[in-house]
Amino acid sequence: MRIGAIEAGGTKFVCGIGNEQGIIEDRISFPTGQPDRTLEQVIAYFEYKEVDNIGIGTFGPIDIDPSSPSYGYVTTTPKPGWANYPFLAKLKQAFDVPFGWDTDVNAAALGEAVWGAAKGLDSCVYYTIGTGIGVGVFVEGKLVHGLVHPEGGHILTRHHPEDRFAGTCPYHGDCLEGMASGPAIEKRWNLKGSDIPADHLAWAMQAFYMGQAVAAAILMLSPKKIILGGGVMHQKQLFPLIRAEVRNNLNGYVSAKAVLDSIDDYIVPPSLGDNAGLCGALALGLQAMEGRIS
Ligand code: ADP
Ligand code: ZN
Repeated sequence: MRIGAIEAGGTKFVCGIGNEQGIIEDRISFPTGQPDRTLEQVIAYFEYKEVDNIGIGTFGPIDIDPSSPSYGYVTTTPKPGWANYPFLAKLKQAFDVPFGWDTDVNAAALGEAVWGAAKGLDSCVYYTIGTGIGVGVFVEGKLVHGLVHPEGGHILTRHHPEDRFAGTCPYHGDCLEGMASGPAIEKRWNLKGSDIPADHLAWAMQAFYMGQAVAAAILMLSPKKIILGGGVMHQKQLFPLIRAEVRNNLNGYVSAKAVLDSIDDYIVPPSLGDNAGLCGALALGLQAMEGRIS
Protein backbone atom coordinates (compact mmCIF):
# COMPACT_ATOMS: atom_id res chain seq x y z
CA MET A 1 0.00 0.00 0.00
CA ARG A 2 1.16 3.53 -0.75
CA ILE A 3 -0.08 5.88 1.94
CA GLY A 4 0.11 9.64 1.55
CA ALA A 5 0.76 11.65 4.69
CA ILE A 6 0.42 15.38 5.35
CA GLU A 7 1.73 16.96 8.53
CA ALA A 8 0.26 20.44 8.38
CA GLY A 9 1.95 22.76 10.84
CA GLY A 10 1.53 26.45 11.47
CA THR A 11 5.08 27.14 10.26
CA LYS A 12 5.75 24.26 7.87
CA PHE A 13 4.05 21.51 5.92
CA VAL A 14 5.60 18.08 5.56
CA CYS A 15 4.24 15.70 2.93
CA GLY A 16 5.37 12.13 2.52
CA ILE A 17 4.69 8.64 1.23
CA GLY A 18 4.88 5.60 3.46
CA ASN A 19 3.60 2.09 3.95
CA GLU A 20 1.55 0.13 6.47
CA GLN A 21 4.68 -0.64 8.50
CA GLY A 22 5.10 3.06 9.20
CA ILE A 23 8.18 3.35 6.99
CA ILE A 24 8.49 6.74 5.30
CA GLU A 25 9.80 6.29 1.77
CA ASP A 26 9.82 9.88 0.59
CA ARG A 27 9.22 13.30 2.09
CA ILE A 28 9.21 16.97 1.25
CA SER A 29 8.82 20.04 3.42
CA PHE A 30 7.95 23.67 2.68
CA PRO A 31 6.88 26.74 4.69
CA THR A 32 3.18 27.25 5.38
CA GLY A 33 1.98 30.17 3.27
CA GLN A 34 -1.44 31.32 2.14
CA PRO A 35 -3.75 28.29 2.04
CA ASP A 36 -4.51 28.11 -1.72
CA ARG A 37 -0.83 28.37 -2.60
CA THR A 38 0.21 25.90 0.09
CA LEU A 39 -2.33 23.31 -1.05
CA GLU A 40 -1.21 23.76 -4.66
CA GLN A 41 2.22 22.64 -3.48
CA VAL A 42 0.68 19.67 -1.66
CA ILE A 43 -1.31 18.67 -4.75
CA ALA A 44 1.75 19.02 -6.98
CA TYR A 45 3.68 16.70 -4.65
CA PHE A 46 1.06 13.93 -4.68
CA GLU A 47 0.06 14.40 -8.35
CA TYR A 48 1.80 11.39 -9.90
CA LYS A 49 2.52 9.44 -6.74
CA GLU A 50 -0.54 7.17 -7.06
CA VAL A 51 -1.31 6.95 -3.36
CA ASP A 52 -4.09 4.66 -2.13
CA ASN A 53 -5.18 7.03 0.62
CA ILE A 54 -4.08 10.21 2.38
CA GLY A 55 -3.92 11.05 6.07
CA ILE A 56 -3.85 14.66 7.26
CA GLY A 57 -2.75 15.68 10.75
CA THR A 58 -3.14 19.42 10.99
CA PHE A 59 -2.83 22.45 13.22
CA GLY A 60 -6.23 23.69 14.30
CA PRO A 61 -8.74 24.20 15.61
CA ILE A 62 -10.48 22.12 12.92
CA ASP A 63 -13.91 20.62 12.34
CA ILE A 64 -13.74 16.82 12.65
CA ASP A 65 -17.48 16.10 12.84
CA PRO A 66 -18.40 14.32 9.58
CA SER A 67 -22.05 15.41 9.91
CA SER A 68 -21.14 19.11 10.11
CA PRO A 69 -21.35 21.38 7.04
CA SER A 70 -17.87 22.64 7.84
CA TYR A 71 -16.31 19.18 8.28
CA GLY A 72 -12.74 19.33 7.05
CA TYR A 73 -12.38 23.06 7.65
CA VAL A 74 -9.76 24.83 9.69
CA THR A 75 -12.06 26.88 11.93
CA THR A 76 -10.99 29.77 14.20
CA THR A 77 -7.24 30.05 13.73
CA PRO A 78 -5.65 33.52 13.83
CA LYS A 79 -3.29 32.31 11.08
CA PRO A 80 -3.79 34.70 8.11
CA GLY A 81 -6.06 33.27 5.41
CA TRP A 82 -6.67 29.94 7.15
CA ALA A 83 -9.74 30.73 9.29
CA ASN A 84 -12.83 28.94 7.91
CA TYR A 85 -10.78 27.40 5.13
CA PRO A 86 -12.04 24.16 3.47
CA PHE A 87 -8.70 22.33 3.66
CA LEU A 88 -10.01 18.78 3.19
CA ALA A 89 -12.47 19.65 0.39
CA LYS A 90 -9.66 21.22 -1.70
CA LEU A 91 -7.70 17.99 -1.55
CA LYS A 92 -10.73 15.81 -2.18
CA GLN A 93 -11.29 17.75 -5.42
CA ALA A 94 -7.80 16.76 -6.51
CA PHE A 95 -7.61 13.12 -5.36
CA ASP A 96 -10.36 10.51 -5.31
CA VAL A 97 -9.01 8.40 -2.43
CA PRO A 98 -10.08 7.82 1.22
CA PHE A 99 -8.89 10.61 3.51
CA GLY A 100 -8.05 10.59 7.20
CA TRP A 101 -8.46 13.98 8.88
CA ASP A 102 -7.59 14.90 12.45
CA THR A 103 -5.55 17.24 14.63
CA ASP A 104 -1.76 17.02 14.54
CA VAL A 105 -1.72 15.84 18.16
CA ASN A 106 -4.43 13.21 17.69
CA ALA A 107 -2.42 12.02 14.67
CA ALA A 108 0.75 11.84 16.76
CA ALA A 109 -1.08 9.87 19.48
CA LEU A 110 -2.32 7.40 16.85
CA GLY A 111 1.12 7.07 15.24
CA GLU A 112 2.68 6.29 18.63
CA ALA A 113 -0.09 3.77 19.35
CA VAL A 114 0.36 1.99 16.02
CA TRP A 115 4.16 2.04 15.68
CA GLY A 116 5.74 3.89 18.60
CA ALA A 117 5.93 4.23 22.39
CA ALA A 118 2.35 3.01 22.92
CA LYS A 119 2.54 0.18 20.37
CA GLY A 120 0.12 -2.60 21.22
CA LEU A 121 -1.73 -0.51 23.82
CA ASP A 122 -5.34 0.55 23.36
CA SER A 123 -4.84 3.94 25.01
CA CYS A 124 -2.36 6.77 25.27
CA VAL A 125 -2.26 10.52 25.72
CA TYR A 126 0.17 12.59 23.64
CA TYR A 127 1.18 16.10 24.72
CA THR A 128 3.09 18.46 22.52
CA ILE A 129 4.75 21.29 24.41
CA GLY A 130 6.03 23.74 21.83
CA THR A 131 4.73 27.02 20.42
CA GLY A 132 1.43 25.95 21.98
CA ILE A 133 0.38 23.01 24.08
CA GLY A 134 -1.81 20.39 22.41
CA VAL A 135 -3.11 17.05 23.56
CA GLY A 136 -4.04 14.01 21.49
CA VAL A 137 -6.17 11.35 23.15
CA PHE A 138 -6.44 7.72 22.08
CA VAL A 139 -8.79 5.65 24.26
CA GLU A 140 -10.23 2.14 23.83
CA GLY A 141 -8.56 1.94 20.44
CA LYS A 142 -10.02 5.19 19.09
CA LEU A 143 -9.03 8.83 18.88
CA VAL A 144 -11.29 10.94 21.04
CA HIS A 145 -13.64 13.25 19.15
CA GLY A 146 -16.47 15.03 20.90
CA LEU A 147 -18.05 18.44 20.68
CA VAL A 148 -14.86 19.43 18.90
CA HIS A 149 -11.58 17.75 19.83
CA PRO A 150 -9.66 17.66 23.10
CA GLU A 151 -8.04 21.02 23.94
CA GLY A 152 -6.09 19.95 27.00
CA GLY A 153 -3.54 22.74 26.57
CA HIS A 154 -6.06 25.20 27.94
CA ILE A 155 -6.90 23.63 31.29
CA LEU A 156 -6.41 25.78 34.36
CA THR A 157 -3.62 24.97 36.80
CA ARG A 158 -2.55 26.22 40.23
CA HIS A 159 0.24 28.80 40.21
CA HIS A 160 3.69 27.83 41.41
CA PRO A 161 4.21 29.67 44.73
CA GLU A 162 7.19 31.62 43.34
CA ASP A 163 5.63 32.44 39.97
CA ARG A 164 4.44 36.00 39.37
CA PHE A 165 4.00 35.54 35.61
CA ALA A 166 0.53 36.46 34.29
CA GLY A 167 0.54 34.03 31.35
CA THR A 168 0.37 34.44 27.58
CA CYS A 169 -2.88 32.80 26.43
CA PRO A 170 -5.01 35.37 24.58
CA TYR A 171 -8.15 33.56 25.76
CA HIS A 172 -7.33 32.56 29.35
CA GLY A 173 -4.10 34.25 30.40
CA ASP A 174 -2.75 31.72 32.87
CA CYS A 175 -4.05 28.40 31.47
CA LEU A 176 -1.50 25.60 30.97
CA GLU A 177 -0.48 26.89 27.53
CA GLY A 178 -0.30 30.44 28.90
CA MET A 179 2.12 29.32 31.63
CA ALA A 180 4.09 26.43 30.13
CA SER A 181 4.35 26.76 26.32
CA GLY A 182 7.73 27.64 24.79
CA PRO A 183 6.77 31.32 24.30
CA ALA A 184 5.50 31.51 27.93
CA ILE A 185 8.85 30.23 29.21
CA GLU A 186 10.72 32.74 27.06
CA LYS A 187 8.57 35.66 28.14
CA ARG A 188 8.67 34.79 31.85
CA TRP A 189 12.47 34.50 32.00
CA ASN A 190 13.36 36.79 29.12
CA LEU A 191 15.56 33.98 27.83
CA LYS A 192 15.16 31.50 24.98
CA GLY A 193 14.15 28.10 26.38
CA SER A 194 17.15 26.47 24.74
CA ASP A 195 19.49 28.95 26.56
CA ILE A 196 18.14 28.32 30.07
CA PRO A 197 20.49 26.08 32.12
CA ALA A 198 19.24 22.64 33.11
CA ASP A 199 19.30 23.41 36.85
CA HIS A 200 17.37 26.70 36.54
CA LEU A 201 14.14 27.24 38.51
CA ALA A 202 12.39 27.55 35.11
CA TRP A 203 12.39 23.77 34.74
CA ALA A 204 11.12 23.03 38.25
CA MET A 205 8.28 25.46 37.48
CA GLN A 206 7.67 23.86 34.11
CA ALA A 207 7.44 20.43 35.77
CA PHE A 208 5.09 21.89 38.40
CA TYR A 209 2.63 22.93 35.66
CA MET A 210 3.02 19.85 33.47
CA GLY A 211 2.78 17.60 36.51
CA GLN A 212 -0.67 18.95 37.27
CA ALA A 213 -1.85 18.49 33.67
CA VAL A 214 -0.49 14.96 33.38
CA ALA A 215 -1.97 13.94 36.74
CA ALA A 216 -5.34 15.31 35.57
CA ALA A 217 -5.06 13.32 32.34
CA ILE A 218 -4.33 10.15 34.32
CA LEU A 219 -7.29 10.78 36.62
CA MET A 220 -9.71 11.65 33.81
CA LEU A 221 -8.73 9.19 31.10
CA SER A 222 -6.67 6.44 32.75
CA PRO A 223 -4.36 6.13 29.73
CA LYS A 224 -1.86 3.26 29.57
CA LYS A 225 0.95 5.55 28.35
CA ILE A 226 1.70 9.28 28.50
CA ILE A 227 3.94 10.65 25.75
CA LEU A 228 5.48 14.11 26.06
CA GLY A 229 6.85 15.68 22.87
CA GLY A 230 7.46 19.09 21.29
CA GLY A 231 10.38 21.49 21.34
CA VAL A 232 10.31 22.23 25.08
CA MET A 233 10.65 18.52 25.89
CA HIS A 234 14.11 18.57 24.28
CA GLN A 235 15.02 19.55 27.85
CA LYS A 236 15.43 15.94 28.94
CA GLN A 237 15.86 16.85 32.62
CA LEU A 238 12.13 17.65 32.57
CA PHE A 239 11.17 13.97 32.42
CA PRO A 240 12.28 12.99 35.95
CA LEU A 241 10.98 16.31 37.32
CA ILE A 242 7.54 15.83 35.75
CA ARG A 243 7.35 12.19 36.86
CA ALA A 244 8.10 13.25 40.44
CA GLU A 245 5.41 15.97 40.32
CA VAL A 246 2.87 13.50 38.94
CA ARG A 247 3.58 11.02 41.72
CA ASN A 248 3.34 13.79 44.30
CA ASN A 249 0.02 14.97 42.91
CA LEU A 250 -1.48 11.48 42.78
CA ASN A 251 -0.01 10.65 46.21
CA GLY A 252 -0.51 6.90 45.88
CA TYR A 253 -4.20 7.19 45.07
CA VAL A 254 -4.07 5.65 41.59
CA SER A 255 -3.18 2.10 42.36
CA ALA A 256 -1.45 1.08 39.15
CA LYS A 257 2.01 -0.44 38.79
CA ALA A 258 2.80 1.95 35.94
CA VAL A 259 2.54 4.92 38.29
CA LEU A 260 3.77 3.34 41.53
CA ASP A 261 6.68 1.19 40.29
CA SER A 262 7.55 1.94 36.68
CA ILE A 263 6.74 5.56 35.97
CA ASP A 264 9.96 5.88 33.89
CA ASP A 265 8.32 3.59 31.33
CA TYR A 266 4.94 5.24 31.69
CA ILE A 267 5.72 8.93 31.05
CA VAL A 268 8.04 8.87 28.06
CA PRO A 269 9.28 10.80 25.00
CA PRO A 270 7.82 9.99 21.57
CA SER A 271 9.62 7.00 20.12
CA LEU A 272 9.00 8.04 16.51
CA GLY A 273 11.16 11.13 17.09
CA ASP A 274 11.29 13.52 14.17
CA ASN A 275 8.94 11.29 12.20
CA ALA A 276 6.17 11.43 14.83
CA GLY A 277 4.04 13.96 12.95
CA LEU A 278 4.36 12.35 9.54
CA CYS A 279 3.89 8.82 10.94
CA GLY A 280 0.78 10.08 12.70
CA ALA A 281 -0.63 11.31 9.39
CA LEU A 282 0.36 7.98 7.83
CA ALA A 283 -1.59 6.17 10.55
CA LEU A 284 -4.62 8.37 9.82
CA GLY A 285 -4.38 7.42 6.14
CA LEU A 286 -4.16 3.74 7.04
CA GLN A 287 -7.12 4.05 9.38
CA ALA A 288 -9.17 5.79 6.66
CA MET A 289 -8.46 2.85 4.38
CA GLU A 290 -9.64 0.41 6.99
CA GLY A 291 -12.87 2.38 7.13
CA ARG A 292 -12.77 3.21 10.81
CA ILE A 293 -12.88 6.95 10.22
CA SER A 294 -14.01 8.99 7.26
P1 ADP B 1 5.90 23.90 16.92
O1 ADP B 1 5.19 23.97 18.24
O2 ADP B 1 5.87 25.21 16.19
O3 ADP B 1 5.48 22.75 16.09
P2 ADP B 1 8.24 23.01 18.40
O4 ADP B 1 7.55 21.82 18.98
O5 ADP B 1 9.65 22.85 17.96
O6 ADP B 1 7.45 23.65 17.19
O7 ADP B 1 8.20 24.13 19.51
C1 ADP B 1 8.81 25.37 19.40
C2 ADP B 1 8.94 25.97 20.80
O8 ADP B 1 9.75 25.10 21.60
C3 ADP B 1 9.59 27.33 20.84
O9 ADP B 1 8.80 28.18 21.67
C4 ADP B 1 10.95 27.10 21.46
O10 ADP B 1 11.30 28.13 22.33
C5 ADP B 1 10.78 25.83 22.24
N1 ADP B 1 12.01 25.04 22.17
C6 ADP B 1 12.58 24.49 21.07
N2 ADP B 1 13.71 23.85 21.39
C7 ADP B 1 13.88 23.99 22.73
C8 ADP B 1 14.86 23.55 23.67
N3 ADP B 1 15.93 22.84 23.29
N4 ADP B 1 14.68 23.88 24.96
C9 ADP B 1 13.60 24.59 25.36
N5 ADP B 1 12.66 25.05 24.54
C10 ADP B 1 12.79 24.76 23.23
ZN1 ZN C 1 -5.72 29.14 27.07
